[in-house]
Amino acid sequence: MSLSTNGLIIRVNNVKEYDRFISVLTETNGVIRAYVHGARSVKNKNAAATALLTYSNLTLERKKDTYVLKEAAAEKVFFGLQNDIFKLTLAQHFCELSDVLAPENTDSKEYLRLILNSISYLENDKRPQKLIKAITELRMLSISGYAPNLVACSGCAKFEDDVMYFDTQNGELLCEECKIADRNIIPINKSVLSAMRHIAFSDFSSLYNFTISESSQEMLADVVERFLLSQVEHKFSVLQFYKNL
Ligand SMILES: [Zn+2]
Repeated sequence: MSLSTNGLIIRVNNVKEYDRFISVLTETNGVIRAYVHGARSVKNKNAAATALLTYSNLTLERKKDTYVLKEAAAEKVFFGLQNDIFKLTLAQHFCELSDVLAPENTDSKEYLRLILNSISYLENDKRPQKLIKAITELRMLSISGYAPNLVACSGCAKFEDDVMYFDTQNGELLCEECKIADRNIIPINKSVLSAMRHIAFSDFSSLYNFTISESSQEMLADVVERFLLSQVEHKFSVLQFYKNL
């Protein structure tokens, strides 16, 4: 069975002398794995289009659980990432995120749109890196079944306060009166709370458009990352590398 789709190359493993095994976040079939014969030989016509972080049109042949690549043409290469280790590493973290969180064998346009937009914002410095990171992580968690409950305090339904508490374990909000001291809770200010609500629930068209001070960005990035790590059992190795840069 043959499949033709667009997708972003999110993982590349070298196999044998000249081959590659790639993971692709596709528009139509979630994350798929595909074998690419001869991709590392200089003359191979599929080499560039199957490189990491390339958005390509792919024609694949299904072989049991995996695919074999027949043909690939690059549609978009993010050249602006190449000379900046911070941007490149963060883009690779987004790849790892979608490798872990995006579904298989189902429509995944929402994931692809999110990651392509985030990488483009990153490439062109449209928003600060830590903000793009928080947006991408929290939005991807929200669409993949880890949406936090941010409507109100889960104890007394208080909508907001100067300081509220986010419980990273249970993904819920608590107020000063309802917080339980021994739980894994992080204090957040009003603007972090409203940013989190926006990222989790806004229309995609306005996802990246909100204002937040630099100090609140710091708090936002921290609480979202801790939420991610407490919800998803996975060793995010690229994230560790990014934090050590
Ligand atoms: Zn309360």
